[in-house]
Amino acid sequence: MPQQIPVVDYLELGDRPHLRARECTACGALYFDRRNACAKCFGTEFTARALSNHGRLRAFTFVHRVKRPFVSAIVELDGGGVVKANLLGVEDPEQITPRLPVVLETYAVGTDDEGTEAIAFGYRPQGGEK
Ligand SMILES: [Zn+2]
Repeated sequence: MPQQIPVVDYLELGDRPHLRARECTACGALYFDRRNACAKCFGTEFTARALSNHGRLRAFTFVHRVKRPFVSAIVELDGGGVVKANLLGVEDPEQITPRLPVVLETYAVGTDDEGTEAIAFGYRPQGGEK
């Protein structure tokens, strides 16, 4: 098993990869970046919170002007949190519907000279409507 590092520091690897946000202890606002004060209530205390790996598509854009087109998406996670990421495994725009259920998936984007893998994340549509 090669050494792995996440490409963003809010992606936690391990047995069950997931995203981790900082939650304002006063109002519950979630942030992925480190900040000194909450943008909503100016609270200054935060706790780490593991976010759900499941969510639904809020918005998406097909990015065609590159060699390998991809879908850039905004995903609303179950239980809170909104994240921008690529949608994985979608070749046909017809596959994408509003509120499509998706699940987090990690993948290697590259390996450095020492064999350490850089790990990114995206979201893959979940089979079937519920
Ligand atoms: Zn707050």
